[in-house]
Formats: sequence, C-alpha cells, structure tokens
Amino acid sequence: MQPPSCFIEVAVPLHLEQTFTYKLPLDLQERAVPGLRVLVPFGRRTVTGYILGAAPVSAELKIKEVLELLDTEPLFAGSDLEFYRWIASYYMHPLGEVIKTALPPGLTIMGRRTAVMAADGSIVSEELLSKGTRCRKERHFIASAEETTQALKGRAAEILGFIKSGQGVSAASVRSRFGDAHTQLKRLHDLGLIRSENREVYRDPFSRSVIQSDTPLALNASQETAIESLREGVDAKAFRPYLLHGVTGSGKTEVYLQAISYALEKGRDAIVLVPEIALTPQLVERFRRRFSCGIAVLHSGLSSGERYDEWRRIRRGEARIAIGARSAIFAPVRNPGIIVIDEEHEATYKQSDGLRYNARDLSLVLGKQHRAVVLLGSATPLVTTFHAARTGRIAELTLGSRVNDRPMPDTLLIDGRGRKGTALSPELTKALTDNLANGGQSMLLLNRRGFATWLECRDCGHTLRCPNCSVTLTYHQQKKRHICHYCDHSIPAPSLCPECKGGEIGLFGLGTERLEEEVSALLPDARVARMDRDTTSGRGGHSRILKKFESGGTDILIGTQMIAKGHDFPGVTLVGVVSADTALNIPDFRGAERGFQLVSQVTGRAGRGDQPGKVLVQTMNPGHFALVTAASHNYEAFYDEELAERSDAGYPPFSHLVAIHFSGNSSQLVEKGAKAAADFLRELRQKRGWSMEILGPSAAPLGMIRGRYRWQILLKSSRRAELHRLVQQFRGEHSPHSTVRMAIDIDPMELL
Ligand code: ADP
Ligand code: ZN
Repeated sequence: MQPPSCFIEVAVPLHLEQTFTYKLPLDLQERAVPGLRVLVPFGRRTVTGYILGAAPVSAELKIKEVLELLDTEPLFAGSDLEFYRWIASYYMHPLGEVIKTALPPGLTIMGRRTAVMAADGSIVSEELLSKGTRCRKERHFIASAEETTQALKGRAAEILGFIKSGQGVSAASVRSRFGDAHTQLKRLHDLGLIRSENREVYRDPFSRSVIQSDTPLALNASQETAIESLREGVDAKAFRPYLLHGVTGSGKTEVYLQAISYALEKGRDAIVLVPEIALTPQLVERFRRRFSCGIAVLHSGLSSGERYDEWRRIRRGEARIAIGARSAIFAPVRNPGIIVIDEEHEATYKQSDGLRYNARDLSLVLGKQHRAVVLLGSATPLVTTFHAARTGRIAELTLGSRVNDRPMPDTLLIDGRGRKGTALSPELTKALTDNLANGGQSMLLLNRRGFATWLECRDCGHTLRCPNCSVTLTYHQQKKRHICHYCDHSIPAPSLCPECKGGEIGLFGLGTERLEEEVSALLPDARVARMDRDTTSGRGGHSRILKKFESGGTDILIGTQMIAKGHDFPGVTLVGVVSADTALNIPDFRGAERGFQLVSQVTGRAGRGDQPGKVLVQTMNPGHFALVTAASHNYEAFYDEELAERSDAGYPPFSHLVAIHFSGNSSQLVEKGAKAAADFLRELRQKRGWSMEILGPSAAPLGMIRGRYRWQILLKSSRRAELHRLVQQFRGEHSPHSTVRMAIDIDPMELL
C-alpha cells in the first residue's frame, strides 16, 4: 500500500466471503499500514478487522470510517497474507476468519456498538478494548546521570547501587531483593536520582525452570546420511520436501536438531510442529537444551498473554525456532528455512472445526512459498505420504534400526476371541507379574477412559444413553456418575433401573478406571498410575504423571492413547495393548492404518533402554494384516497391502476427498437439507460432465452430538481441481435452510 491513502481494504473475521472498503480519517492515514488491526463499525456492531492494503478510491457515499487503529506494529507481513489467501481459497473459508485463526488468540475483539462512542465516531468504549490480549508492562527504575550532593546511607544507597547496576531494573526485582522499598524509592525519585517508566516485559512460561544445555551427539551412519541430504536441501534454497522414515527409537529427534542447527547457521529460521505439546515434554526439553535461547513454544496450555508474548518474540526475531502444536504453522518466523513435522501421520494436525486446515499439508505450502526444507518425520508415515515418497514427489530418508543396534521388541498378538470376564488375558497377566518381579516398568494401553462404557438393566435391557448425543453414558466410579464423553452431560449413578425400576443393573465394557482397579487387585504391591483425560486436568497434569514414571516412581502406567506416543522411557520393558480393536473398527477407510499406527507406536515405547522389550497385543482380529505387519515391524508389507485396498476402493492416494457436513436441531430439516444438497451436487456434476463420486447423503456414524442431528456427503475424485471447482460452485449457488449448518471439509481426516 502506498500510504497515506484514504481507502483501505479490510477483512473481518465473520462468516462472509467478501472483504470491505473503509475510509481512514485524516489523523489515522499516516499510521495505517497493511497488517494492522482496526476497529470498524459493522452493521450495528463494532468489530476488529485486518488491513489488507489500499482500496481503490471510491465515490460511494455509504463508506464508513475506521474508528481506531489497534496496533503500532503490523501483525502480519505481505508473505503471510499470501499464505492466508492461499488457505482461504483452498479450504473455502473466509479470509478474515483465516487471519483470526492464524493470529494468537485474544487479539480479536468483537463487540456491540455502544453509546460510549463519541459523536464523531472516533472514540470507543475502553471496556471493549480491554478485553483483548495486550502486552504486559511493568514499572522499571533507571538511574539518572545526576550525582548526589546529599550523602545517602543505608538501604537507599544500596537500592540506588542496585538500580545503577542495570539498564533499568523492574519494580518486581527491587521488591524481591529489598522487600518493600516504597519510601526509599520515593526519596531517590524526589532527589532526581532515578526516574521510572513503564516497559514491556514478556510473560515467560518457563521462567521458573533452569535447563542444562547439551551438545550434538555423534551421529550413526544412517543419521549422517540423512543429515547430509538435509544440509544439501538447506543449501539449495529451494522447496525440498523429505520424509524421515525412522523406526521408533532410531534417533529422529537428533536429526531434527542437527538439521535445524544447520539452517540457523545459514541464517534461516525454523518451525517445529508436534502433535500435542502436553504429551511431548521430552521433545520440547531436548530442543531447549540444545538451543538454549531463541526458542518459543506455542500451545493451548499457555494463557493468552503468554502466547501473545511468545508470538511477539518470534515476530521480532528474538526467537528463531517456534515449536508448537498445529497452530504453530502460523508462527511468524521471519525467514523459515526448515519446517519439521514430527509424527506426521497424526490426525491432530487436522483441525476439526472452524477453519478445517491440516497443518501437515500446510507445511508443504509454506515450504514452497519460502523455498524451505520440509521434514516429515514418522515411524508410521501416512500411506499417502509414503506413496508420495515412492513416486518421487518427496525424498525419502530412512533410519532402519534403533540407535546402538537395540533390537525391536518381540511383539505377540493374543487372540481374545472366546475369552470372558477379565480385561487381561492369562498371557498378559503373567507377563505383567514377571516384569514386576524383575523390576521392569510396564505400560498398559486402553483407549477408553472411565470405568464401564455402558450400563444395562438385566431385567428389561434398558441402557443409559445420552439424551443429546448418540452414545451410551460412561460410568466414572470416582465421581459416581454416568458421563457423556461428547457433551459432558452427566447423571448420578442410579441404584434402580430408571426404566423398569428393577434392581439388577449391570456395568459393561471396560475403561481405564476399571482396568486400574483390576491391575491393582491383581498386583497389590505394584505402584500403579493412570493417565487419561480425567487424571491430567489442570496445568502440569501430564508432566506430573510422566515425570514420576520416568524417574521410576511408578511400576505400571495405565492410560489412553496419551501414553502411546513419543515418550522415551528407557525403563519400560513391557507394553500391553488391552484391545487393538477400537482403532481397527473406526467407521472409516483409515481403520487399518490407525490400527497399524497404534500398535507400532506403543511397540515403540518398549525396550528403549539396555533391556530388550516385549509387547503383547490383545485383539479379536489376530489375523488382521495391519496387526500382523505391525507385530513384525514391517511397514512396507503393511503399505503394500493397504495401498492395494485403497486402489480397489478408490481412496487416497488414488483420489481426493471433500466431506460436506450438515447439522441442526431438527432431524427432518437436516436430512432434507442434506438431500437437497446432494441432488444439487449431482446436477452440477452432470452439467459439467465430470466423473466424481458423490456418496450419500447419509446420517453420520455419530448421528447426534450435543442435540444436533448430523448428516454428511462425501465427494471423491481423482482430479482435485475439478472436485474443488465443483464444490466452490456448489457453495456459491446453494445454501441450506437457515436452521441447518453446513460445513465444508477439504481433505477430511475423520468421517464420524
Ligand atoms: P525416535 O524419535 O526416532 O523414536 P529418539 O530421537 O527419541 O528416537 O532417540 C532415541 C534415543 O536414542 C534417545 O534417547 C536419543 O538421545 C538417543 N540417540 C539418538 N541418536 C543417537 C546417537 N547418534 N548416538 C547415541 N544415542 C542417540
Ligand atoms: Zn452427550
């Protein structure tokens, strides 16, 4: 934009396609640049908008004026805007909402226009503004050049000495050193020896922990080969995507660290994405050890203020490595030269509502834009990623064995068919008992929290279901309540059947709470801990349990998928999977892939120390190829068979998918809306003469959540451009009944 300009183009974070033109009042024209937030009147509201650039001079009378500029520094640069525009177009989502998603939370203030606004429209209620996240300021004392003529003694002299020792000392540090020094400070101030000012400070989420730094490890041959390619990639200053396919425990993290270190040396910055920060404290810690300064961590566990501060440290170039969960793909690093996606197969990279972006896929877009290396790391890459590697679109780097030639653990599939009663098979029971006796640590995975997954009356067969969701209520023994895992609806545990008032109520199905009880009864001397959503609420909940386990304070750790991934606990010599079938049986073409990933990932937790590990997997499908190949640590065998199945059924990588979700309070209207949409799509397809598949509409596998009925349509085509063009046209020309919400999901990862 060539400021000063009178008209600007503004995107607002509302569900609206178009951007808007606003007029700048004279006094704001000098300061207005792209990337700033503005406060603008919108209908009867006042909303935050983002300046995109200058707008053509307009003679239209109705154009409204900007009320206020909310920033002094731009929040995004031209290259960021280019990225946002790509996302808005690909995911068919309003640009304003894309920008809002990309920026740290708490910056977008939305309010109603109130009477506090002055007649000229230039003043807005302070109350409205104070709701947004802002930087923190603290009072600092600075010694003035003046020398004292009066003899200072005692505390006042000491305090002055302390203030003189720095370029500005915060009030907090004076307080922590001298206690209440109010009178002395006032005196120094009155004498003209110090002055005070408010300075910006960062809220540091790590302020309390000191970290020991470390140095790069000597690489083994396969790591060395991988690093050489990556260095070449960085040197090429071109878009270079790589798959780092390394079995669990093969030392992928060390490769990330050294590749990043090389990129930093070359003046480039780095983004590192991990599936979930709370579950990967070890990885974050290794990064902090290696790169003692200049690292910023972004995740939802931080307060908005902390997040905003971390974000600004990156934007200002004070932190050159950004680590975080999926939203860190929007970290404002200045010159990204390497983007690492750890565990690239994880579905958590896909956001499941609002802007349904996939950070793993976006890393490739960003990498292309900035001519960067993109490093996708996994022991169990997505079938689609491996296919891209095999067809030459991604370079493949392989770490074929564990570091120090540690063996992969022995993995046994235990046939659970016909077994009744206990959660643990005789084999797993014996293995747990023996491992405890030998002083080894064990992990037990069960992907269902709570005690029992449903209640059933033995007299009338009544089951307790959620009134708002199509699922049964899970019994939680500690809380003595039946709880819905989708909407948190809960009722106290009944003593009689609510239907027939019979007294014979049975609790069926197995959750982690019941498993913990069973294991404690079986091995009363064992120190047992449980890790699931119920035991990890609150800040630090995860790391408390993980640290205790890591330090040997727990013998057996029971948990949901939270315990399956990433952790490096050398003491673990036994891993048990209580049921591998939940993953296999998801109503989705990805069932086999999820089953393979689950078993391979838990297998990866065993035998990472000097003692070899053992893995027992209980299943009703012991012959399933995904489990058999996972047990024999044979990714390629899994890949070959899965690829053949995908090819037969025409699923990715042989097609591209778009899902269209419908939801609403009226079952009839949702169904009608979905049907009308499908008819319209079929009409469009016929007009265009394109050969895509339109599946459905059908009720979603989870037919109702939070009282909203759910239907969906799935579109499948081998030609992505045609598919997207059709959906784009559909979206422009069709809108469902006003009570039915429609959401378009490009490249869906879940079809629940
Ligand atoms: P992955 O991420 O592939 O599962 P990690 O990166 O966690 O594996 O590495 C497993 C263990 O091996 C870690 O404790 C790590 O410190 C160690 N390690 C990695 N590379 C080397 C190396 N070259 N020499 C010795 N130990 C290594
Ligand atoms: Zn519910």
